Amino acid sequence: MTKNITINSILPNIDSPIDYTHEILPKSTNLEYLIDEAIEIEDEKSSLMAVGGGTIIDYVKVISSFSKSDYIAIPTNASHDGFSSPYINFTLREQLLAQSQKKGGKAYTPTSPLAIIGDTTLISKAPPISLSAGVGDILAKRVAVLDWRLAHRLKGSKFDIYAATFAEMTANMVEDEVRSLKKLFFSEQGARVLIKALGSSGVAMCIAGSSRPASGSEHLVSHALDKLTKINNLNLNIAHGHQTGFASILMMYLHGEDWKRTRDLLKEVNAPVTLGELGIDRDLMLNALNEAQKIRPSRYTILSEGLTKSAAENAIEMTGID
Ligand SMILES: [Zn+2]
Repeated sequence: MTKNITINSILPNIDSPIDYTHEILPKSTNLEYLIDEAIEIEDEKSSLMAVGGGTIIDYVKVISSFSKSDYIAIPTNASHDGFSSPYINFTLREQLLAQSQKKGGKAYTPTSPLAIIGDTTLISKAPPISLSAGVGDILAKRVAVLDWRLAHRLKGSKFDIYAATFAEMTANMVEDEVRSLKKLFFSEQGARVLIKALGSSGVAMCIAGSSRPASGSEHLVSHALDKLTKINNLNLNIAHGHQTGFASILMMYLHGEDWKRTRDLLKEVNAPVTLGELGIDRDLMLNALNEAQKIRPSRYTILSEGLTKSAAENAIEMTGID
């Protein structure tokens, strides 16, 4: 649906009126649609504004990359750091990779937002599940940095202490506020903390020049769950941040770190901490742990040397997530 509006009445100090087109993107968008959109605006010197959740903002990133236009991200919830990240979600990335290998296909260039506008009053009114998912996606940064340090020590991977510290700071900020605000976290105050933390996670990725500080083995488990859900036609619809937060309990355990702290913080915000609460069975989690090791072999993590089935079962038992 498109609508052409002149907004000189909204911005009275601008000499010439600014025309804009307002378009509601369909919920399930295919790549051809995004490419057509990019072609349409390519010659118009347009700037884009992405208003919505992570999926919509990812679509606008693709249009922005293909049309070489700037975009401003206006998230309507704080469920993960996609609004501040130049990278797109795993499923869309896979689709784009396949498409770019075809003749005439376009490759996605990671594209950061020109600005982020976070209306915390609006965001605090999003379903509470989005705030608890946002906490999960921030706690995941602890694992991501542990994996990154491990890759640096064992494989000599390039490591950036500034980006890593930035990512850890986001987890510190959110942990402190969850503990001090308790139930009040589900308010404008909580939304404010999360938007700052999730926004800073995007900055950490820009400093690192990769998603390393924000995405490690816990995200690989989440991507594996997405993949298996799709392959098996399961209608699970689990929030990304709930998956990454949940997987962080297991990955913190494998790193020999304080997994109980991660679990207790997730519990504090009513995020799932058992397989039943997450809505999956033990076999699916075991398959995801096995699959996660193969998803991005170039990214060395605690899973890279191979997690045996018995070790995975042991981790599930020890962390009490069953
Ligand atoms: Zn994430």
